[in-house]
Amino acid sequence: MNEMKEMYLRMGISEEVYQYAREVLSGLKERFEAIDQVAEYNQLKVLQAMQKHQVSEACLLGTTGYGYNDFGRDTLEEVYASAFHAESALVRPQITCGTHALALALMSNLRPGDELLSPVGKPYDTLEEVIGIRPSKGSLAEYGVSYSQVELLPDGAFDYEGIRSKINEKTKLVTIQRSKGYQTRPTLSVGRIGELIAFIKSVKPDVICMVDNCYGEFVETIEPTDVGADMVVGSLIKNPGGGLAPIGGYIVGKKECVENAAYRLTSPGLGKEVGASLGILPQFYQGFFLAPTVTAGALKGAIFAANLYERLGFAVVPNGSESRHDIIQAVTFGTPEGVIAFCEGIQAAAPVDSHVTPEPWDMPGYDAKVIMAAGAFVSGSSIELSADGPIKEPYAVYFQGGLTWQHAKYGIMRSLQSLVDKGIVSL
Ligand SMILES: *Cc1c(COP(=O)(O)O)cnc(C)c1O
Repeated sequence: MNEMKEMYLRMGISEEVYQYAREVLSGLKERFEAIDQVAEYNQLKVLQAMQKHQVSEACLLGTTGYGYNDFGRDTLEEVYASAFHAESALVRPQITCGTHALALALMSNLRPGDELLSPVGKPYDTLEEVIGIRPSKGSLAEYGVSYSQVELLPDGAFDYEGIRSKINEKTKLVTIQRSKGYQTRPTLSVGRIGELIAFIKSVKPDVICMVDNCYGEFVETIEPTDVGADMVVGSLIKNPGGGLAPIGGYIVGKKECVENAAYRLTSPGLGKEVGASLGILPQFYQGFFLAPTVTAGALKGAIFAANLYERLGFAVVPNGSESRHDIIQAVTFGTPEGVIAFCEGIQAAAPVDSHVTPEPWDMPGYDAKVIMAAGAFVSGSSIELSADGPIKEPYAVYFQGGLTWQHAKYGIMRSLQSLVDKGIVSL
């Protein structure tokens, strides 16, 4: 299709980058078909939950003030609970981001004297201050909650004996991060999370198993709640918001755990009963409805990027052919220049702010400068095409999102163009 090529040329893509992308894509047809199958299944799962709870036009209206009897909010929480096959859910705009949702889940379910265990190595950067690994005001450590951690084995396997030895009478909650975050370890499949939970429960049946599900929702046909997780937590400006939710977080799981979180979010005695939804519900419902297909588009983008940069000789995690359990793609460039050029390309491909140049900065919650490329409709949304890279060894970028596969594709081509133009890569 010559017309197509002309369009890409007009959009700043050179003939050689266009051809290179075509060659990479020609090998991905079957994988893309498999992704569409997962999206189809998950679309039906969400639809079924919406129909079961009789989502109606009235559910889309919001409340103000205290938000008593907010029918739309309560129904949405039932929809989330059903789609995740969980007892209960807390889905609120008052949960400001993923870190807040995780902090809420932890702080509401742990008490002074309890211990938190991470059996999968270091948790996501922003949780270091929540836990108190890096000292911070109001951390769990300040409240007398201790923390212990077991690393994954060098081959990525769980250190079962190490985990067994760290579970003691104080261990109350185990946090399992599904996605690799800013690390280059493999992301955990839901199946592997299930095996880990089964082991932990065999050692101590009453321990609460929480999963940080950020970036994992709808990548597979099952979620961690299907394999024994007591609490699953994530951000609405990632997968489950479908790109439409402008804020928010969710906690799904056991009624007791979710109730604790609700009492902490609002107040003891009030719990889920207050919290006006204002005008946000249409975006929450519609975003959740779109989330399976939006996630599929982002996943295709990640696989395309993996194959393209792998072929150029860069280390990519996951690699081009392995199965996927989240939408994040890590590419290690080994130099700050590579990270910066990549992010500039992603920025230049954005629908919003394509004319600005991203620069590394000291972001709250992170211990190194971070460069972020995001020209998003929702500020900071990482289900939209975005990339970020801490400016520190091994100089890897973490790329994710794309509300449509077509946009993700263009963004990746544009990132390659940026690396070619700066002489970092030659085709
Ligand atoms: C994004 C993310 C978080 C934190 O979410 P924010 O919305 O950025 O606060 C936590 N854990 C993982 C694995 C994440 O990817």
